[in-house]
Amino acid sequence: MPEPPRSDGRGTGAINVNPDALLARLRHVVGEAGVLTGPGLEAHEVDWRKRYHGRALAVVRPSTPGEVAAVVRACRDHATPIVPQGGHTGLVGGGTPDASGRQVVLHLGRLNRVRAVDESNLSMTVEAGCVLQSVQEAAAAHGLLFPLSLAAEGSCTIGGNLATNAGGTQVLRYGNARELCLGLEVVTASGEVWDGLGGLRKDNTGYSLRDLFIGSEGTLGVITAAVLKLVPRPRAQLTALAAVPDLDGAVQLLRTAAARCGPALTAFEVMNPLSLDLVARHVPGLASPWRGIDLPEPAWSVLLEVSDSDDEAHAMSMLESTLGDALERGNAVEALVADSVARSRAFWHLREAIPMAQAAEGLNIKHDISLPVSRIPAFVSATDEALQRVSRGARMVTFGHLGDGNLHYNVQAPEGTDPAAFLAAFEPAVNACVYDAVEAHGGSISAEHGIGVLKREELERRKPVVAMTLMRSIKRALDPDDLFNPGRLL
Ligand code: FAD
Ligand code: ZN
Repeated sequence: MPEPPRSDGRGTGAINVNPDALLARLRHVVGEAGVLTGPGLEAHEVDWRKRYHGRALAVVRPSTPGEVAAVVRACRDHATPIVPQGGHTGLVGGGTPDASGRQVVLHLGRLNRVRAVDESNLSMTVEAGCVLQSVQEAAAAHGLLFPLSLAAEGSCTIGGNLATNAGGTQVLRYGNARELCLGLEVVTASGEVWDGLGGLRKDNTGYSLRDLFIGSEGTLGVITAAVLKLVPRPRAQLTALAAVPDLDGAVQLLRTAAARCGPALTAFEVMNPLSLDLVARHVPGLASPWRGIDLPEPAWSVLLEVSDSDDEAHAMSMLESTLGDALERGNAVEALVADSVARSRAFWHLREAIPMAQAAEGLNIKHDISLPVSRIPAFVSATDEALQRVSRGARMVTFGHLGDGNLHYNVQAPEGTDPAAFLAAFEPAVNACVYDAVEAHGGSISAEHGIGVLKREELERRKPVVAMTLMRSIKRALDPDDLFNPGRLL
């Protein structure tokens, strides 16, 4: 179907901001049912944490890359900003429109086909709107594993995972979304489709455009499809929980596990006591695994997973020798090995339920920081103490991917204090305290969730000027009209 005039993929002169004409053109591109306007769009206008409340001119749902390109050209011609959106599970406000009512949400949910699985190349080509869990299932149907795994996997999408370079619980072994991507298809700001879907593991033909788009939080282009890396499914997977006397013990246990298990160590997660208390309080059926066991206070919990392509006995011997060594040296005080798939799921459920349990406890101040693993115990004890001087009684919900040097270092209001009032009064001071300490310990202010709106000013303050200048140059080169996600990231 031919498009109306001014849609030739090139800039054609005067800007024409006319919402009604734009909506008519969008309907022409994606059909009446593909353009949503008016009330009832909360799922697209309010973020998962309910911190950002926006209003969109429209939510547009194209179903092919060609339609995405035509939507981009239409919005460009009408100088109308585009907010790409997948599962809308992002935690920094990057996928939520602002309150102006001028931005178009470009929802990728209808681009949800698995285009190909190449078992010999260990890769699959999927569209950006595929839900992560459905991609895992499609890989499993071929006896393969797509190892990206995170608590939002039932609703987040591959496009969002790549745009935020998502991490999750298996990064230690398989890397984050960037390491799991071999190629991309992207709609550019000029409304062209870049086909970079080669499934190559080696390609030294200039700048890695793929790597520019990964982690760009929707500010450089719209990802419409990706080639993902698959791995053979491990034959055996064993999970254990260890109680460690403190974070130093956890770091020592990690060293032992890395030495004894090598690449078979697929996950190493820590949880402080309050994390598990909140899970027990808010998630039915998830009592503390240490109930009835006398542990020295304040014991932290470690969840370890060992995967092996050989057999279960081999995996078990690695796990047992790791735990035995840690118990002997006093780096662990108790250990439980899951004796069934159901028990292993239950251990993982404890870890994965923490964000939900924390949300049920009330709004909190989140930090997804990374540090050299060796600096983590000192960072946590110094910063826990400093935060008490900022807000006495503030409760630390500290958990995450110790194996990657990545902690979710979250601050909850003191017991009995209204969470919203706590945030209003203390968020800037808490952030300054945490991020100063992160900087002093050589860390990063975002290991996983990205910058979005939430951390934009923090980034500006803390990233070297030269790096910010380079990032702005890239943005100007790829999106000169600031069409994609203006005000996010930069
Ligand atoms: P959205 O929220 O829709 O978008 C996120 C960003 O990507 C926005 O800036 C958006 O504009 C952009 N974007 C989305 N799709 C595209 C596209 N096709 N092209 C270009 N830009 C696009 N993150 C982790 O890294 N590790 C975790 O363990 C983790 N756990 C989580 C647990 C929970 C319970 C929740 C709610 C979130 C968690 N997240 C985690 C955060 C989040 O990054 C991931 O859920 C996910 O990667 C976001 O995918 P999405 O499809 O929901 O993206
Ligand atoms: Zn995480």
